[in-house]
Amino acid sequence: MLLRLNKIIQAPGCVPFTHTMDLRELVIGAQRPVTEPVEASGVVRNVAGSDGVLELTGEAHTRLHCTCDRCARPFERDYRVPLHAVLTTEIQEEEDEWTFLIEDDCADLDDIILTSFVFGLDMQLLCQEDCAGLCPTCGANLNDGPCGCVKEPDPRLAALAQLLKDKID
Ligand SMILES: [Zn+2]
Ligand SMILES: [Zn+2]
Repeated sequence: MLLRLNKIIQAPGCVPFTHTMDLRELVIGAQRPVTEPVEASGVVRNVAGSDGVLELTGEAHTRLHCTCDRCARPFERDYRVPLHAVLTTEIQEEEDEWTFLIEDDCADLDDIILTSFVFGLDMQLLCQEDCAGLCPTCGANLNDGPCGCVKEPDPRLAALAQLLKDKID
């Protein structure tokens, strides 16, 4: 969506916006977790009455439907990301990724929201921060508790244990 800003590019004022985006095709890792619409709202302001430099603030949110990258369990998560961008009629070469161009008196909201959305998202989607993952031997989900497999001792640790044992003996 293009947001028309002609009234506030050279004069103090604000233009509020609400925008719904479809990001179902967005791939994060190897999945498409944005199955629900992304709702964004905010405001663009020309606070200082400055010539051609505006500030956008707001928030975007949705509910993600993911599969845990570590244990493969499906989970849902509310996802909120703040929107904050500088809009300008002229891009200088050294501008950062949060500066967006105003073209024909309009800002491209899709571009701004998508950039903020992806930037705030963890590239690894985990059902919980300390997900225990799957047992490499039997494939059980270790978040449900120990699976009963006996851990293969690390051969280096086994050698060390033997060494210590020899010392004590
Ligand atoms: Zn998990
Ligand atoms: Zn196991």
